[in-house]
Amino acid sequence: MTSETACEFCAIVTGRLHAEILFEDESTVAFLDNTAVMEGHTLVIPKVHAADIWAISEDDAAAVMRTAHRMAALLDGVFT
Ligand SMILES: [Zn+2]
Repeated sequence: MTSETACEFCAIVTGRLHAEILFEDESTVAFLDNTAVMEGHTLVIPKVHAADIWAISEDDAAAVMRTAHRMAALLDGVFT
């Protein structure tokens, strides 16, 4: 488990760690994976820290899925 202060995702959410952010709303952030093996690989995370997937609330999980669905539609065909 990762604490919030050591969490790289929280550092991206707060701006302490640079990321190429593609989209952001009140609950989620979508950004390019800087270690991606495929161009355009995008990560979607909740803004609220969660030590693991079981700690994510149902609402935050739904928000992450909604953003992932939107990003998939937006990026379809952009990175080929
Ligand atoms: Zn975190």
